[in-house]
Amino acid sequence: MRRRLILVGAGHAHLEVMRLHKNNPLTDIEMCLINPSNYQYYSGMFSGYAEGLYTEEETRIDLTEFAERCGVHFIKKKASRVFPERKKLFCEGGAVYPFDIISFDIGSKSIPYEFAGSDARSVKPNYQFVEQMNSLRATSTPLIVGGGAAGCELAVSIQTFKNKHEIAGNVRLVTSSNVLADSPRKTSKKLKSILEETGVQIWENEKVKDMYDECIVTEMNNRIRHTGVLWLGGPLADPIFTLSNIDVDTRGFAYVKATLQFEKYSFIFGAGDCVTLRTYPHLDKSGVYAVRQGPVLFENLKAYLDDEPLKKFEPQKKAMYILSAGKKKGLLMYGGFSHYSGKAWNLKNKIDTNFMKKYK
Ligand SMILES: Cc1cc2nc3c(=O)[nH]c(=O)nc-3n(C[C@H](O)[C@H](O)[C@H](O)COP(=O)(O)OP(=O)(O)OC[C@H]3O[C@@H](n4cnc5c(N)ncnc54)[C@H](O)[C@@H]3O)c2cc1C
Repeated sequence: MRRRLILVGAGHAHLEVMRLHKNNPLTDIEMCLINPSNYQYYSGMFSGYAEGLYTEEETRIDLTEFAERCGVHFIKKKASRVFPERKKLFCEGGAVYPFDIISFDIGSKSIPYEFAGSDARSVKPNYQFVEQMNSLRATSTPLIVGGGAAGCELAVSIQTFKNKHEIAGNVRLVTSSNVLADSPRKTSKKLKSILEETGVQIWENEKVKDMYDECIVTEMNNRIRHTGVLWLGGPLADPIFTLSNIDVDTRGFAYVKATLQFEKYSFIFGAGDCVTLRTYPHLDKSGVYAVRQGPVLFENLKAYLDDEPLKKFEPQKKAMYILSAGKKKGLLMYGGFSHYSGKAWNLKNKIDTNFMKKYK
């Protein structure tokens, strides 16, 4: 009898599961993808889009077309709750889907609970990105909250776009610590100087306390005027797992074992930002790991269905990141090493365009 496998979210790992299923189909399986948008936007190319280097089409995967090609049934819905004991998934709007096996790769969100009702923009879910960016980069003083890799990358990219199109004003970056606080001091200083040379104005060690239409107020009572806020303060969990009484970490991300199975339920799998590995609880929430988990997730879904032993996901010790730093230059970071050049951007461009080619 055919069993139903539901993939919730078109994140990196699920794209790879679908692609591998196309080449080597899981037997006697009806595979469904549930995602709230027809497109999956690729965050690695957000900076290039913000700067005007890529078109919208280049940054996204058409899920209706891709799912059809992979023999996967696509359902455009947002999952809201899972009932593991009843093996049922509930979606917004009231639809209910029974399943035999389910896997989550729904990413993360970025606006904290206390600012949920504010006008702050978010690039999560990722299908909001283009609309948010088009409106924001045309204004005079867009303000970015968050001095991590994503915040800095988008700040420098928007400023480069503004410089090129002679849109007056400066991007403002507010961060509760210093720029790229988790990186070695030398790398952090280098990125700060790139941001400033491009024209980004930076407020370090300032935490946002209140947000208004035209300004934010920090905990040190500084008022910073803006023409729109983009919140990139780090990954936060969707409430779905907490609502479903799943074991979660202190931030609300579901705990998975090294086999990518949920702790209490061997028929629930998860990958990417939305889960925390018990074996590596402090692993960064980054696309690099979501991508690497894809093939392991596919192998383990197959092994589970065939009643065979499952593999353990082992993250690499160090991961390479390349930040787009404006004008087709990149800042490559690998452990303590960093390198700023056109070659670094070319490498990033090659990695990102090759990634997209796999799913287009
Ligand atoms: C500006 C920016 C740049 C970045 N650059 C990099 C980079 O260069 N390298 C890197 O490694 N990381 C980068 N990251 C981090 C990276 O984006 C995330 O770690 C990565 O996208 C996580 O992938 P994922 O597979 O977990 O989910 P995602 O890629 O976020 O995909 C999740 C999918 O699930 C869908 N979804 C969400 N909720 C639900 C629901 N309830 N029901 C159904 N579907 C749902 C979403 O619509 C989305 O399609 C960047 C982040 C940002 C913001």
